[in-house]
Order: sequence, then C-alpha cells, then structure tokens
Amino acid sequence: MTDIRTEWTREEIAALFDKPLLDLLFEAQTVHREVHAANEVQLCTLLSIKTGGCPEDCGYCSQSVHADSGVEATKLMDVRAILQMAAQAKDNGSQRFCMGAAWRNPKDRDMPAIVEIVKGVRDMGLETCMTLGMLTRKQADMLAEAGLDYYNHNIDSSPEYYERVISTRKFDERIETLEHVRESGINVCSGGIVGMGETREDRVGFIHTLATLPKHPESVPVNALVPVKGTVLGDMLADTPLAKIDDIEFVRTVAVARIAMPMSMVRLSAGRESMSEATQSLCFMAGANSIFTGDKLLTAPNAGDDSDAELFAKLGLKALQGEEPMRAEKMQQVVEAAE
Ligand code: SF4
Repeated sequence: MTDIRTEWTREEIAALFDKPLLDLLFEAQTVHREVHAANEVQLCTLLSIKTGGCPEDCGYCSQSVHADSGVEATKLMDVRAILQMAAQAKDNGSQRFCMGAAWRNPKDRDMPAIVEIVKGVRDMGLETCMTLGMLTRKQADMLAEAGLDYYNHNIDSSPEYYERVISTRKFDERIETLEHVRESGINVCSGGIVGMGETREDRVGFIHTLATLPKHPESVPVNALVPVKGTVLGDMLADTPLAKIDDIEFVRTVAVARIAMPMSMVRLSAGRESMSEATQSLCFMAGANSIFTGDKLLTAPNAGDDSDAELFAKLGLKALQGEEPMRAEKMQQVVEAAE
C-alpha cells in the first residue's frame, strides 16, 4: 500500500523525474488507482471575481499593474452576479467553484462581501475555493467560519526560481499564508507553473516543497505557462524555444506530483487549451484527476466545455461526483496511523 510521506529528499524526487517515461507512468497510475477512482475526473470552474490592477509583479501575470497586457482593472463583482455564475457552473456539472481576486491581500473591508459569497456558493451544494492573495490568520479564520472548503495559494516554482519571477513578496510569505490556511482548518490548494524558463532542478524543487509540507495540499494545480504579451515572461519567452514546456516534461511533472502526493487531487490547469488530446490523455495516465472547465481561466483561454465532453467520451472518463470512497478510506487510515 502506498505510503504518504512528507520527508522526501530532493534526490528522490529527481530520481522519479529521471525514470524511463513508461516506468514513471506505470508507477504513477498504480499509486493513483490505490487511492483514486480510475476513470473519474473532478470538474472545477474558475471565475475571476476581481480582475486586474494587482500591485504584485508576478512575471507571468497579465493582471499585474506592472504588465502592459491591456487587462482592465475591475472592482469586486456583485455578489448576485457571482452566485448566478456559480449556479451555471453547477448546471454544467462542476463540483467545485473557484473564485480568484487579483489582490496582494484582501482588505478587512472586503471580507464581509467575501464571506457572503462563500456562504451563497456553498448553499448551492458546490465546494468553494478562493484565491485572494496573502491572508492573515484572522482572515483565514473568518473564511473557515464562513465554510470555505479550499484556499488556493500557489508556490509557483522552486524557492530559488521564485525570486526570479516575483520581487514584491518572498517565498516564505507564500508558505506563511499556507500555514494560516492549514491552521484555520481550510483545505489547501497549492501548485505552480512550469514552462517559465525554469530548469528541471527547479521543477524538482517545486514538487519537493509541496511534498514536504507538514501535510500535502489536498489539491495541486499544475499549470503550463500561457505566455501573455506585455508580461515579463510573455515578452521574454515569446518566439523562443522555451516558450512552451515540452509536453513529455509536463507529463513527467504531473506523474511525479502524483507519486509524491498520492492523496492530492492533481489538477491540469492553465495551458491545457494548447495541449493535444494525446498529451492530456498522458496527463490523466500520469495521475491528473481534476480539470478546470469553461472557456476562460481568470484571463487566460481554456479548453471549452464541448471539447472536454468530446475528450471525456473518447477516453471513457466520467465527471467525479462527491467524495471518492477510496480516498476517504485511505485518509481515515492515515489519520488512524498518526494516532
Ligand atoms: S498572480 Fe495574483 S498576485 Fe500575482 S500579479 Fe497576478 S493577480 Fe497579482
């Protein structure tokens, strides 16, 4: 039976990356089937509830005020409009509704509206996830009390490469917010982006950081950079061979995430719209079991619902409904073993 380990070494993670691809895929799929339903994929919908005008300087992001991407800053969306979008997502089969606001951190004056949104979406029977930037412990507690199921805060890359992509905050501040979220009892969603010009070693460091947190994130989104003109990385990587992560290297990253964090939902996120069906299939084989549906991811394009439905039919995949029984059972075993 697969062990849940948080003491991985970088060497062990690097050795997984180095495996022959078919061995790696076989191992990832074996681990996957011990915990997760074999042919079920979680559908999540992502909505930008406050777009653009962000003071942070993340080099990949079109919503930063430092980017010249033409994204216009908006105010926080009206609560009713958000709830309407959530209802639509539910009708389209989504299990989780994720909401993102382009903030360095929410202000205390924003919190009542955020709490109202969380409660409203939850009342519809959807899982709720928010990404609002850095959180204080008090804010995390408020969100927990409102019933927020997941908080997303990506570590983006390895600690070393992080500093080359973002200068307005430190890697340690990311980890601190993740600690606040964990301590408040909210499930953690944290992943990153590959294809930002980082090395294999950075991808090792990225997975290693997540896999050695005191508890693995319940969700791990793995994004492939969508280079946007006007952003630092978009301009730097456009028309260079680095502009797109090699498909097989992306699949390897997904497989290593699956093996290192067996219980986590590994989500194919940004960049999926430009992946072939064959690459996406390999990602599912590698243990990815969650996707974003809809036409848009915050501001980036996404594979639409129709093409997803076609792909699911071709691959014999089904939308995951509710908690996976095997995962719940395994979680119980982990809790009992720790007692
Ligand atoms: S990634 Fe988030 S924090 Fe960074 S600039 Fe974009 S919206 Fe702001």
